[in-house]
Parts: sequence; C-alpha cells; structure tokens
Amino acid sequence: MVDLSRRRLFTRKTASEDTLRLPWLNTPKFFTDLCTQCGECLKACETQIIVKGDGGFPQVDFTIDECTFCYQCADACPEPLFLSKQEAPWQAKASINEQCLAQRNVECRSCSEMCESVAIQFQLEVGRVAQPKLDTQLCNGCGACVSVCPTLSINVSNFVV
Ligand code: SF4
Ligand code: SF4
Ligand code: SF4
Repeated sequence: MVDLSRRRLFTRKTASEDTLRLPWLNTPKFFTDLCTQCGECLKACETQIIVKGDGGFPQVDFTIDECTFCYQCADACPEPLFLSKQEAPWQAKASINEQCLAQRNVECRSCSEMCESVAIQFQLEVGRVAQPKLDTQLCNGCGACVSVCPTLSINVSNFVV
C-alpha cells in the first residue's frame, strides 16, 4: 500500500488528464499518485493493449487491439486503484475526425463492421458515399474501431470532441 498524501507531494503530473489510462479506475485524476509502475497490469491484459505511456505509467493503446473488459488488469493490480467490476469501466467514447475516408467521399465502413455495440451506423447521403454516425450513448469506449480504421481517424477519450 502507498501513502497517498505523501506520494502526492512528490508526484509530478506527467500526462494530460484526458489520457485514457485503464478501465475501472476509481480516481483517474490521482492515478499517477498511486500507481507504482509495477507492470502487473501490462502482463495481465488479455489483448496486450496496455503499454507504458508518458512518464512510464500504463495506458491503453487501441492501435494494438480493443479492450474486452475482462477486468484482468484490475485483478492483477496490487494497489487500491480500481472500482468493482459491477461499476461502469469508464466514460470514454469514440470520436471520428476529418481524416475519415467516408467524409472524404471514399467508400469505407471498417469501423462499423467492428463495433459490436452498433454505435457506428452508416447513413446514405445524396451526392456522397454513406457517412458514419456515431451514437455516443451506445459507445462503451472499447476501442475496437480504432485499429481497423485505415486512416487512424478514430480517437477514444474521456472527453468527446
Ligand atoms: S479490462 Fe482486460 S482487455 Fe481491458 S485493459 Fe484491462 S486487462 Fe486489458
Ligand atoms: S498493476 Fe497497478 S500499480 Fe502496477 S503498473 Fe498497473 S496500474 Fe500501476
Ligand atoms: S469504441 Fe467500441 S463501442 Fe465505441 S464506436 Fe468504437 S467499436 Fe463501437
């Protein structure tokens, strides 16, 4: 166990607070105060998406694969960083930027095909190829749409832009 109040004195914030760290974090703002960088979550992740990010702290990288919400990172962590599995894993949502091929009038539906939550639907538009419509209510931030996008146009973050 780590003395939170003591560590906070010495810890410098090393990444912006919108960095998507791990699912089920109980206090994302204070993650870097409590995480010891032991690496147990990296070893436990079944899709191997947890990498050492800015400052050596773990964060998910959806360009590798998706989060299956298996909870193994939380189970492996020796620190009191995680909520119970019954809680929502995070508020993260996907957003699609202007690099999207469909928005540039090139036929592509790769993201939609990967989304089990049916959060991305394509709608026909006059004079253009079908356009992606993202329903943030349905999106659970799993990241499955990220690595399949040929132009890496999808970002998953805690703040929807
Ligand atoms: S919940 Fe599972 S897949 Fe998701 S980051 Fe944790 S270990 Fe990896
Ligand atoms: S297992 Fe916990 S303490 Fe260790 S690096 Fe992962 S989040 Fe940090
Ligand atoms: S992050 Fe997951 S749920 Fe959200 S749009 Fe992408 S594939 Fe669908």
